[in-house]
Amino acid sequence: MPRKPTPPVSEPPLRAIYRALAAHFGPQRWWPARTRFEMMVGAILTQNTAWTNVERAIARLRRARALEPRRLHAAPLPELAEWIRPAGYFNVKARRLRAFTGWLIEAHGGSVNRLFRTPPDRLRADLLAINGIGPETADSMLLYAGGHPVFVVDAYTRRFLIRHGWLREGASYDETAEVFTRRLPRDAALFNEFHALIVALGKQYCRATPRCDACPLRRWPRARLDPPEGPIGPAPLIELAFSGEKRERADSGRRKIRRSTPP
Ligand code: SF4
Repeated sequence: MPRKPTPPVSEPPLRAIYRALAAHFGPQRWWPARTRFEMMVGAILTQNTAWTNVERAIARLRRARALEPRRLHAAPLPELAEWIRPAGYFNVKARRLRAFTGWLIEAHGGSVNRLFRTPPDRLRADLLAINGIGPETADSMLLYAGGHPVFVVDAYTRRFLIRHGWLREGASYDETAEVFTRRLPRDAALFNEFHALIVALGKQYCRATPRCDACPLRRWPRARLDPPEGPIGPAPLIELAFSGEKRERADSGRRKIRRSTPP
C-alpha cells in the first residue's frame, strides 16, 4: 500500500501561540520546589509518573531528612526505594538517584552551587552521561534548577506541533527543541513559562483525544490529529521495561501512567 504523504512543515507562530496560552492559562509558576537539589531530585522522580505522585515521594524524603545530597546518597537503596515508592518504578529511580548523587558528590563535592558553575554545554553532557538521565530530565535540571535558557521538550510539545504541521513526524528531541530555540530569544524565564504552558495545554486540551473546540490554539488549522505516539530522545519506559524490575513493573503498571511534569 502506498504510504500517506507527510504534510509539509510550516512555520509555527510561536509568539502568538505563547500569548494565546498565557492569556488562557495565566502564570504557571514552575518549578515547585524548596531547593535546587529538590528540583533535580523531582526531575528524576517525575519520569513516567504524575506530579502528584512525585509530591508524595518528595514529602516522604523530606520527612526522612534525606533531601540533601550526602544524606540521600548514604541511605541504603531499599530504604531509599521505600521512601520514593509513590513515584512508581521506585527501585529503578532509587538507583538513578544514587547515580546522580554519587556523581554530584564526586564531581562537585555535593554542592549544587558548584555544579552550576560548570558551563551549560559541558554540564548537559555530564548529566546525560549519568545512568537514567535523558535529554528531558537534563534540560529540566538546566532550565528549572540552573536557570539556563534551554528548551525542555516532552511528548506534549511534540504532539501539538505535529498536529498543527509545525514539526515533522519522527523529529528528534534536539530538532524539536530547535523549533523554539532558533526562533525565540534565549531567555530562561520565557522558556520556563512556555514549557509549563505547553504542559497545561497537553493536560487539558491536546490530549490523546484532542479537545480542539475549547482549546486556546483552535484558531490555527490542524494538519492532522493523530500523530503516532512515541518517545522523544531516550525512552524511559522502554529502558524501564528492560530493567528486570518485574515486581516493580507490575506494581507501577497498575497505575495509570500519565504525563509527568509538575505541578
Ligand atoms: S487540542 Fe486541537 S487546537 Fe488545541 S493544540 Fe491540540 S490540535 Fe491544536
